[in-house]
Amino acid sequence: MANISLKGIKKVYPNGITAVQNLDLEIEDKEFVVFVGPSGCGKSTALRMIAGLEEVTEGALFIGNNLSNDIEPIDRDIAMVFQNFVMYPDMTVYQNIAHGLKVKKISSEEIHKRVTEAAEILGIEQLLDSMPSSLSGGQQQRVAMGRALVKQPKVFLMDEPLSNLETKLRVKMRLELAKVHKKLQTTVIYVTHDFEEAMALGTRLVVMKEGIIQQVDSPLNLYTKPKNKFVAEFIGAPAMNFIEARVTSSDKGVELLIGNQSIQLSKSKEKTLIEKGYLNKQIIVGIRPVNIHISEVFIEASKNSVLTATVEATEVMGSEAYLYLTIDYHVEITAKVDIRALPNEGETIKIGLDLNKIQFFDKYTEESIS
Ligand code: ADP
Repeated sequence: MANISLKGIKKVYPNGITAVQNLDLEIEDKEFVVFVGPSGCGKSTALRMIAGLEEVTEGALFIGNNLSNDIEPIDRDIAMVFQNFVMYPDMTVYQNIAHGLKVKKISSEEIHKRVTEAAEILGIEQLLDSMPSSLSGGQQQRVAMGRALVKQPKVFLMDEPLSNLETKLRVKMRLELAKVHKKLQTTVIYVTHDFEEAMALGTRLVVMKEGIIQQVDSPLNLYTKPKNKFVAEFIGAPAMNFIEARVTSSDKGVELLIGNQSIQLSKSKEKTLIEKGYLNKQIIVGIRPVNIHISEVFIEASKNSVLTATVEATEVMGSEAYLYLTIDYHVEITAKVDIRALPNEGETIKIGLDLNKIQFFDKYTEESIS
């Protein structure tokens, strides 16, 4: 079993920086968990503590039910793949992959078996006799994985392993990595700052900010039910729009006052805001660019949620375009729309918000109101 349990983990570096705090997390055997968040949020530190490359300042780290705070990295049954992988330049790919096993005095038959198997899984059989200098970036990264694979560890730890590769190759490699995980059925803990990579790979994502876990959830739940404004903004591109609004009531029901315009809420959304005491208060409304519509059909069918906005700029991105809009000259929002019937810059248009997809956040705590 290679379940991993982090209980109240904290890391304070000798310079006084607290990189990770109150880290509580249960990782199941065979899971693919991704630590994700902006640079400096403590992802690598968390991973390095699991690897044993950084000491745990406080808390308990269990690997496969063994308290492992003081266990040497080499005895942890893990293999790590880094962003910067250095190969021995005078050794062939085969020798590079086999090196760690040779050091451990594993028999040459067993080494041969493991290297050939790993090469097959990674699709690099034909490269085994090549020298490192002749390999492309993607091939080098496969060799790095091969080196980890042959150790047959219970847990793989990966720190931004694809971030040195150009975009197309990165996307291809992440698909391959997902396949390798399916085949191997081992626990993987992966670190990236790229939410798309995290969503594509992870069964569960651990979103971090300033050393603190914000939410641990499936990619879909993070997208549809973010716990706070930070998670809502971090997951999704272009980012979710946040609009300050006042919750008011009229004889028509509960409304949101945005700039000088108002939209009327559905009964269930209305109930949430009233029950939580937000009537006559300011809140933050979150709406993703894909949930703002400009088609006549949508506008006609959703009269309660239509606002007037000015098109400040447009950006065509293939079959879709980003519209940069202002509501009442000062509320700035972005919409992602079909390029057919694209409005002109400077034009005043009607936009409809999909009220089923709208989210609310407390103005002060920035926690989701749900
Ligand atoms: P991430 O992987 O999310 O980019 P890190 O775990 O590398 O974040 O860093 C978290 C915080 O800890 C940052 O403020 C960083 O400057 C600090 N930090 C990282 N490594 C060290 C170190 N060896 N000594 C001191 N501070 C460090």
